[in-house]
Amino acid sequence: MSDVIALASYAADVWLPAGGGTELVSAIDGSIVATMPAEAEPTVMLDYARRVGGPALRAMTFQQRGKMLRALADALSARKDELYQLSFLTGATRGDNAFDIDGGIGTLFVYASKAKALPDTHVMLDGGREAISKGNFAGQHILAPLSGVAVHINAYNFPVWGMLEKLAPTLLAGVPAIVKPATTGAYLTAAAFRIMIDSGALPPGAVQLLLGSTGDLINQLGGQDSVAFTGSAATAAKLKANPNVIANTVRFTAEQDSLNASVLGPEVSIESPEFDLFVKEAVREITQKAGQKCTAIRRIMVSQALLEPVQQAIVARLSKTAVGDPREETTRMGALAGLPQRDDVADNVARLRGEAEVVTGGEALDLGGSLGQGAFFAPTLLRCDNPATAEMVHAVEAFGPVSTLMPYGDLDDAVALANRGLGSLAMSIFSHDPVAVAALVSGTSVFHGRIMVVDRDSAADATGHGAALPHLQHGGPGRAGGGAELGGVIGMMPYLQRTALQAAPATLDLLAGL
Ligand code: NAP
Repeated sequence: MSDVIALASYAADVWLPAGGGTELVSAIDGSIVATMPAEAEPTVMLDYARRVGGPALRAMTFQQRGKMLRALADALSARKDELYQLSFLTGATRGDNAFDIDGGIGTLFVYASKAKALPDTHVMLDGGREAISKGNFAGQHILAPLSGVAVHINAYNFPVWGMLEKLAPTLLAGVPAIVKPATTGAYLTAAAFRIMIDSGALPPGAVQLLLGSTGDLINQLGGQDSVAFTGSAATAAKLKANPNVIANTVRFTAEQDSLNASVLGPEVSIESPEFDLFVKEAVREITQKAGQKCTAIRRIMVSQALLEPVQQAIVARLSKTAVGDPREETTRMGALAGLPQRDDVADNVARLRGEAEVVTGGEALDLGGSLGQGAFFAPTLLRCDNPATAEMVHAVEAFGPVSTLMPYGDLDDAVALANRGLGSLAMSIFSHDPVAVAALVSGTSVFHGRIMVVDRDSAADATGHGAALPHLQHGGPGRAGGGAELGGVIGMMPYLQRTALQAAPATLDLLAGL
């Protein structure tokens, strides 16, 4: 991969002039991978999406749009090796590629499959007929695609999945999208985007690619438009508070910081199968994607009695994790997305150290040779002995291979600690005791968007703490942003308007077939 890629935005079904801007470097050796283009003109994109993309998509039925998603997934599958090669340069290993690239394509396939159960019409019924009078008059909710544009602002950690998990429900709903990837790793998103355009499966204006700054895009959005944002809480807060977003009630959904917890059941001993399962999961979550997963376990909670044994078991496994060039088969953990991201992780570990001690790792790694320029960071376990009085460990997300081990007293204590994240995307419970599981779930569910319960009987089939699945909601309350992406039809809701129709039953029958 020696040629520098000149990246281009895609507006109004035309590739704009490429390259010439900021250089994007490889996360593993600092070499130049791509150059960004000059700033794109968002007004042209918005106009084209509303005038051309929306009508073209809305002319299709839900089922036709499902077939379109399937064609996109097939096109990406056929060329995924190209994406793998670029993905290595973002620091991702082969295993990480499966998560980002195959996971993204899989999301399209699942939505294509879900579409088969949707009507072959342009509006959907939402729920059943409501009896609102004793005579010839009834109620029915319907869902129809908004007539505006969906703006997707993505984070750097999943260049492919991040784009596709937002596009699948949006396009199935019948709404055109402007994809704005994070600048770090934008070359990988752009490559996947180009494959979709090359496939010819999309109608004109269905998707456009905006590389670099969004300029005054947010100021031009209206009440039929939406923003789906993934990134830091700070940026989300700024965009949500944009006066135009507020004045025009622009739909805004956010996936942001999350201090996800995993709890080992109080009944578990060193001999229990759940002990090993928990340790393996914690280590996988620290090392997969070098910990750059919004759903990664940041807080590892165990009974006081198991604090020492769990610490030893995690450290033993982490010490065997091969960190290195992600292109090597033997590498288990690659690099962070770039040196600025590595600096952020180091800064946040320093903040956590005020309340927790570093048990292993805690620093950048110089792997020597060309890898010496890479953004490598040691797998890191911290330990906080007094989590009830601590603040930082529940609030500071070190977005890298970093997690903090902490003890709880009883079940009430475990519930209180898990909820100290003030809203998280994902939680997991490793326990074979149904009473403990029930207490933990009932005490924590309203603070968590997804809860995975694993024991000796389900472990072999379990999907993993960090895996956001297209079938299930991805999003959490409070600090996590309050968003709800994916989850099958739920994921389409930000792009559909629900309207309550009141009419004679015969008229409602007619309208149901629109
Ligand atoms: P960020 O700075 O907030 O950037 C996220 C996205 O917003 C990028 O595409 C960025 O573009 C764009 N952006 C930044 N400022 C903007 C503005 N004023 N107007 C419009 N767009 C703007 O976040 P980050 O630091 O790169 O991402 C890491 C964070 O994301 C982590 O802290 C993690 O918690 C969070 N995250 C959350 C999830 C989730 O699902 N909850 C998933 C992944 C990451 P540029 O790159 O061009 O600046």
